[in-house]
Parts: sequence; structure tokens; C-alpha cells
Amino acid sequence: MLRASRLFDGETVRVADNHVVIIEGTTIAGIGRAADLRHGETVVDFPGATLIPGLIDPHVHLAFDASCDPVKSLAERDDGAVLAAMRLAAKTALRAGITTVRDLGDRGFLSLGLRGAPDLPTIVAAGPPLTTERGHCHFLGGEVAGGSAELRAAVRAHIQRGVDVVKIMASGGTMTPGSIQEQAQFDREALLVAVSEAHRHGIPVTAHAHGRGAVLDAIEAGVDGVEHATFWAADGVDTPGRDLVERIVSRRVPLGATAGVLPGADAAMPVAVCRRMPAIIANFAALHAEGAVIVAGTDAGIGPYKPHDVLPYARDRLSAFGMDPLTILRSMTSVAADVCGLGHSKGRLRAGYDADVVVVQGDPIADLSALHRVAAVYSRGTRVDSGSRTEA
Ligand SMILES: [Zn+2]
Repeated sequence: MLRASRLFDGETVRVADNHVVIIEGTTIAGIGRAADLRHGETVVDFPGATLIPGLIDPHVHLAFDASCDPVKSLAERDDGAVLAAMRLAAKTALRAGITTVRDLGDRGFLSLGLRGAPDLPTIVAAGPPLTTERGHCHFLGGEVAGGSAELRAAVRAHIQRGVDVVKIMASGGTMTPGSIQEQAQFDREALLVAVSEAHRHGIPVTAHAHGRGAVLDAIEAGVDGVEHATFWAADGVDTPGRDLVERIVSRRVPLGATAGVLPGADAAMPVAVCRRMPAIIANFAALHAEGAVIVAGTDAGIGPYKPHDVLPYARDRLSAFGMDPLTILRSMTSVAADVCGLGHSKGRLRAGYDADVVVVQGDPIADLSALHRVAAVYSRGTRVDSGSRTEA
């Protein structure tokens, strides 16, 4: 049984004396006030601290090593070396209280084999993202040559390999020479084929989409999520426009905002991204004000400014979107769990849910920097090594 001064259950905050989470095996047996409990429980006390659900990063790349050139670094390593690095990356996330990650792009389906490891966070795995010939991230092995029939077959092959989610590159991206970020890669018809095939098997699809056209096509094709949604244009950033905002909001399609960079790391970020950031933030702020579902989806691993434990730093960017601390905490826990298809078992402190619990010093509602003061991390009921990157 864990006892602390405050408890955030993933949705609401309970501020009263001595809140507890009772853990039995790998699950939460109950939450409540210490005064109401039967005697004889072993109590682990965290005075002054807050119990929160384990954080969830819905967009990471365990296979990228957060170096200055993760693509080159990946190409130089064999699968054994990559797997070892992926384990370390996953442990880095877990130490900081990130008890679930969704890997939206690996090489050779390596992330699938890491699922269920007791010393790692829970991993939701996409395998290599589906992309066009020489398209964005083709080097990960998810190239689809040909038309609809080949794309349908590729989706089916991914599902047969056992992916939890299909990731499709609807537009180009910065990381891939020759790929044009603002341009669509697959047309709407192709995206529709991918979505209908995946949904036929009960598997969700999330689309990497930067340009407005690619975001619109993905939404119209019925994807379950959009990654980035920067509305990137050749010379700046577009606005989504009334119709598209309405569709995103009314269909409850979650947007992964690629939020979260280490403090002071702006110099390491691509100039093209930094230059557009104020406009990207303004779009997300407008989308948030309209009620869009927004999660951080950090893209951890793609550069030194985005290590695998960067998620708590996304608080700054989400604040810039106009989200208040409670909304930010929900976004990183219960909302992110729903986005990852784990709303029934993760992201909430609730009886019957997995015992993924983080203890942070202080009150994160009063001061979100508490997310960097991790006192303990429980992953499926087991206390694991914990520690924040820097004490904020
Ligand atoms: Zn990514």
C-alpha cells in the first residue's frame, strides 16, 4: 500500500490527508483514504508527495538513439546492438515515470519482441512505418512498392507479425533526404485502403502527417490518430481552416503534438522547425480552445534534444497551447492511455487497473515541475529504479 498527501487518479485530484493506493500483485486492488482501510497492510509512506498514474508517451522511437544523427547510427548497428540500445532507451523512460510507451517506428519489428519484459515499460508497437518507395523513413523497412493491392498486403503482413497499431507516413518528413515534409505521400484512396484493412482486423491506424492536405486526407480516410499535425508549408505554416478543425474536434481524432524538448536544447533543433514553432503553437492553441484531443507524443529518440525520458518536459509546450496543469496531467495519463488503446488498464489509478504508479514530490497541480521530482516508480506492481534527468 502506498500512502501520500495527494492523489491524482488520471482524471481528478483528491486533496485530503493520507491517500492510498493498494497494490495486489500487478494490479491496483483499490484506492481510498488511509483511515478507511483495514489493518495489517504494509504501508510505504511518501509524506508531502502525490500519487499519479504512470505517464504514457504515445509516440517514441526506441530504435533511434537520441544522437545527432540517429538514422546513421541505426544503419551502422546490427539487430543485436539495436535491441540492446532499445532496452536501455525503454529503461531510461521507465526511470522517469513513463510506464507505457507507444513505439511508432522501429526496424525489423524489433520493438515487438520487447513487449512484456518485466524490467521495461509496457510497449505498444507499430513495427516499421508503412511508407512509399524512398519515402519518409523508408530505411526502417516499411516501404510499399506498388498500389492499393500491395498496401493492403503490407498492412495485413504487419498485423500477421503482431503489431498493436499500424503507423503510416501520410506525408514526408525532415529526417529523410529527398522526402518533402509538406507533401502527401499516399493519396486519400490509399489511406482509406490501409485504414479499412487494419480496422477489418481490429487494429488502429495512426498517420504521420505534416502538410494540411495530408492531415485532411488522413482524417477523411478515418485514421485513429494524427502524428505531428504541424500544418507545415513550404515557406511557413498553414492554418488548418474552419472545416478541418471541425472534423478533428467532432470526430475526436487525437493529435500527437510532438511536444517536449530538453530545456535549452533549441540550438540543437532543426532551424526549419524552430522558425515555424510560433505558428505551430498558435495552431495547437486554437485546436485546444476548440476542444481537440491533444497528447504530447514526443517523438523521443530523434535527436539529443529528445531523449527517451523527455515526456515530463512536454509540460512547457502543452502549457503554451493553453492547457492548464490538470488538463496536461490528464493528457499524459488517462487521455494518452485511451489514445494507445489501453484505456481499460492504464492511465488511471482505479481498482482493477495495472499498478503503474508514480510518486512525485510536491503537488503537480500547483507546480508541474513536480513531474521532474520522481520519488518512486511502480511498474505493474513492482518498484523499479527511478530518477529524473535533472532536478528542476
Ligand atoms: Zn516519429
